[in-house]
Amino acid sequence: MSNRRVKLLIPKDRGEFIPLFFTIFLICAYVIFELYVILPIIYHNIFTYKEILHLIFGFYIIFNLIGNLYLCMITDTSISTIICPVLLPSPIVISKSKEKIQQDIIYYHCNWHYCHNCEINVPARSQHCHLCKICILKHDHHCTFLGRCIGFRNIRYYMCFLIWTWIGLVYCNILHMDYTYELVGTFSWRVIIACLCPFGAWLFGLVDHFSLILSCICSTSIMLNLYILFLIIQQIILIKNSQTWYEYIKNIHIYQIGKNFQSNLQLVFGKRWYLILFNPLISSQPYGDGMSYDINIMETNPISTKRI
Ligand SMILES: [Zn+2]
Ligand SMILES: [Zn+2]
Repeated sequence: MSNRRVKLLIPKDRGEFIPLFFTIFLICAYVIFELYVILPIIYHNIFTYKEILHLIFGFYIIFNLIGNLYLCMITDTSISTIICPVLLPSPIVISKSKEKIQQDIIYYHCNWHYCHNCEINVPARSQHCHLCKICILKHDHHCTFLGRCIGFRNIRYYMCFLIWTWIGLVYCNILHMDYTYELVGTFSWRVIIACLCPFGAWLFGLVDHFSLILSCICSTSIMLNLYILFLIIQQIILIKNSQTWYEYIKNIHIYQIGKNFQSNLQLVFGKRWYLILFNPLISSQPYGDGMSYDINIMETNPISTKRI
């Protein structure tokens, strides 16, 4: 592994080691728990075809989850991957043409700008991240749990990581339900209390230590499941609206050029957007160079676009 990749894996801000460690710890804890505790109890014989199918599907989830996480972390989406010009043309150009003035205004607000932290001119949609200490191309947001920014080049891996984490958690929840049936035969009031209030059930002696741990893992996986589903829906809405999270917060709609959802998916995930979920190694570059974007130049004529 080259030094550059190792550098990219390590968060720039030391405070982010804890959430990143927490994310990796949770993934490892779930994998070990499902493999060594839940599956052997549900399927007593390791050679049953059902268990083998579960193992194959489980490892496929882990491969996609870890692969997308790793590629999301080592993919540099900062301005260090491009050559930024030292000088920019003046944004204010005296022109008698009404259309030209409008274009200049758009240029002024939406095109390249100077970053005082990086001390360089940076492209449209780039934003400086004070935690990563650099400007990020098509900056979406800084993900605390991964300790890095999500932007133009790594949003594909981030989305696939979220989706596979969600699939993995749904799968865990199904296994936990199977496990509960195996253990108690049927649902009872003890199981319901243990699920709703595991600590209370444990304090009153309704469940043992192991059931308490299991109840906590089940409750955590359900909550994480809902949270990740919320993040996925949020990103899908942003892609549909051709916005980044930053632009959504700032109410910037200038990149909404009236394209359909499929075209927007292509812009973000590349031509082979429909394949990226199945394997993180499938090549599919996002549309464009991360520096120039089609914009909606006239509110009165929303389908007019210009590349800047
Ligand atoms: Zn910057
Ligand atoms: Zn950042």
